[in-house]
Amino acid sequence: MNLRAVRGTRDIFGPEMLAWHRAESVFREVTNSFAYEEFRTPLFESTDLFKRGVGEETDIVGKEMYTFEDRGGDSLTLRPEMTAPIVRAMIEHNILRHHPLTRLWYAGPQFRYERPQKGRYRQFHQFGAECIGSEHPESDAEIILLANEVLRRFGLTNIRLELNSLGSSEVRASYRSALVEYLRLHINKLTPDSQRRIDSNPLRVLDSKEPQDIAVVAGAPLLHSFLDDASATHFAAVRALLDVVGVPYVVNPLLVRGLDYYNHTVFEFTTTSLGTQNAVGGGGRYDPLFAMLGGGNVPAVGFSLGIDRMILLLEAEQGCWSEKPIDGVYICAIGEAARLPVNAIALRLRRNSIHVVTDLLRRSMKAQLKEANRERVVWTIMIGDDELANGTAVVKNMESGEQLTVPQYQLESIIA
Ligand code: AMP
Repeated sequence: MNLRAVRGTRDIFGPEMLAWHRAESVFREVTNSFAYEEFRTPLFESTDLFKRGVGEETDIVGKEMYTFEDRGGDSLTLRPEMTAPIVRAMIEHNILRHHPLTRLWYAGPQFRYERPQKGRYRQFHQFGAECIGSEHPESDAEIILLANEVLRRFGLTNIRLELNSLGSSEVRASYRSALVEYLRLHINKLTPDSQRRIDSNPLRVLDSKEPQDIAVVAGAPLLHSFLDDASATHFAAVRALLDVVGVPYVVNPLLVRGLDYYNHTVFEFTTTSLGTQNAVGGGGRYDPLFAMLGGGNVPAVGFSLGIDRMILLLEAEQGCWSEKPIDGVYICAIGEAARLPVNAIALRLRRNSIHVVTDLLRRSMKAQLKEANRERVVWTIMIGDDELANGTAVVKNMESGEQLTVPQYQLESIIA
């Protein structure tokens, strides 16, 4: 039997794991500095949530969901994204009653049945944040700056911020009609996918990477000319807030993002280092979503970043993974008699939060010292018959090679 991880899923371990830990500590640091609190939702939800919250005509709901019936006959779906679950939870717990402005973040696996390739998986991971309750451009800017800060602090440099405004829901609707009218005139020049989208999700045609579609889109009416005064003012204010802190961006009038619930600001972080999977993350304002899920009129804005892609990008930019940091001690028991007492010393040091490696293979002293080198420890502690008799230990600094004999009770203070 050839047991392997399911297509589109992968194991994460070894040096790559260090990069994940770094990413996770950046998420915590940055969200804490922006006063966002962590929120965790279940990995699966009722299928209806995504049908209503993401939209039946989107690729996510139409083609990519992991949907199954459980033993009780309920239709469940592994979450393909986090915004709908978060909004569901906000409504369910009536959180906004006590916190009319709620800032929260999440990180975790998402599931989409996509064609796997480098940077595109069926189980992937997203980090994101939502700012719920404010309609003002300051909240759009805060969310963009938070995402930008995470990417920079993680160490990524080849990233471009693209920005656009879809205007109010009314603006979007009237633009949509104009676009449909234009696309119908050129329907024969579009790819079959785009032809289908004219009715289901015409704005997505603007996103197409197919040369045929790009040629048609080049002559399409632009959203900008449809923006009303209030929408234009909102967008100008978001840009001014980015300008004042010197965060660079480019306005991309074709950026629409695929989901139905966006209005006003949409944005995306893109890179040229990951081939065709050039989106590292994105987001936008989604004022209509609460109402779509029965939660009344609540403005909100958020983003999500693909953690797997952040990690791939870091590897591409650095050229390799960082090595495991040098840390802690290796305790080497020399001879039979020392095997038992070194375990007591190991536990004492561990209770002082010291990283301790011991030998579990009953290896020779020479083999243990070799292992200590591989383990990248700062110190090796050696205990044999003489040290047992005197209550001492030989401590070797692995970098300088310097060696000294110390009382066992002083080990913590020397190592710390
Ligand atoms: P989306 O929710 O589609 O806007 O995706 C937000 C981010 O999640 C993207 O920019 C990607 O970085 C990441 N992402 C989306 N789908 C996948 C996938 N199948 N595999 C890996 N990362 C993904």
